[in-house]
Amino acid sequence: MTMILVTGGAGYIGSHACVALLAAGEDVVVFDNFSNSSPIALQRVQQICGKSLIAVEGDIRDERAIEQVLTQYNCTAVMHFAGLKSVQDSVAEPLEYYDQNVIGSHRLLRAMQRSGVKTMVFSSSATVYGTPKFLPYTEDHPLNPVNPYGRTKLIIEDMLRDQYVSDPSWGIAILRYFNPVGAHESGLIGEDPRGVPNNLVPFVAQVAIGRRERLNIWGADYDTPDGTGVRDYIHVMDLALGHLSALKALDSPKCFSVNLGTGTGSSVLEVVRAFEKACGSTIPYDIKSRRPGDIDAYYAATETASRLMGWTAARSLEAMCADHWRWQSNNPNGYC
Ligand code: NAD
Ligand code: UDP
Repeated sequence: MTMILVTGGAGYIGSHACVALLAAGEDVVVFDNFSNSSPIALQRVQQICGKSLIAVEGDIRDERAIEQVLTQYNCTAVMHFAGLKSVQDSVAEPLEYYDQNVIGSHRLLRAMQRSGVKTMVFSSSATVYGTPKFLPYTEDHPLNPVNPYGRTKLIIEDMLRDQYVSDPSWGIAILRYFNPVGAHESGLIGEDPRGVPNNLVPFVAQVAIGRRERLNIWGADYDTPDGTGVRDYIHVMDLALGHLSALKALDSPKCFSVNLGTGTGSSVLEVVRAFEKACGSTIPYDIKSRRPGDIDAYYAATETASRLMGWTAARSLEAMCADHWRWQSNNPNGYC
């Protein structure tokens, strides 16, 4: 049994990772400033697992506070989810994104270095690849992010790789997520976006529950089988389990970057149909012009995750929609 520091552990993906960690017998201390989450998520995590965790409110840019937590709780590893994640907001407020994501991660690493904690699992993103030169994206695809959010992720990745080169006793797993959706099967925790959701599935779920009238489909003239955009949707619990596999793979020090996706692309219309089946009602939609900056299609090559970590995604698009709907229908207004 070990103590894992989970930054951003009250957020969407972090809360599911906490469930996976507690269920696997690990101890967890969450470090979160709740800027985009609710402490209720952590109560629910404990309810699901029948086990308690430690929650500390704080900002990852507060190096001393992190160092104190790492030392006080004898942490052995860090799962680093905390940060800002909206592509649109990053274009409007790049300095805020560089501050919270890059400077925040730098301070976290310094605190880890000072307290001798050398194992890190980091939440990166498929956005580091940028416009596809080929598909599926393999991990050696050129890294050329096209927005500030993606650039912050690439800078952090580079910082982590440089740290490993300087001290190979570190263990670093860089996980490039594709499109996380769904919720824990209990329906107790899930994604709770503030304001109008940018992402497809949370928007569809809010139409299904009656909080929004119609879905706008951003473009039906893409070079894809039905003309709508194609993405690699991955169940958030599969993603959470991928973090456990990454941690196990770091038993001996090493540094690797892996995609966490299913390897299968689904179109917007396929997602809408799957969600309609899950919720038992029709999702009304309008076809609109393309969203600026969107790519026709992308999906993951999954061999590296399977080879290095023995992990593959198991849950179907139907399960993602059914679980997302259970969360949304049980919690129409999220954690409020
Ligand atoms: P989220 O916003 O739900 O969770 C992030 C958590 O970090 C929140 O609880 C927030 O309060 C906390 N946080 C933010 N800034 C902080 C700071 N300065 N100090 C302390 N806590 C802070 O986001 P998520 O969807 O769970 O994403 C988690 C990570 O995964 C992020 O790093 C994100 O960039 C990355 N990621 C997400 C997606 C996605 O589609 N959700 C895709 C790829 C990568
Ligand atoms: N999308 C859409 N309407 C929405 C939100 C998204 O048609 O309200 C489309 C978007 O154009 C893309 C896909 O759904 O083809 C996934 O978008 P999302 O924002 O969820 O993920 P990302 O584009 O960041 O991979």
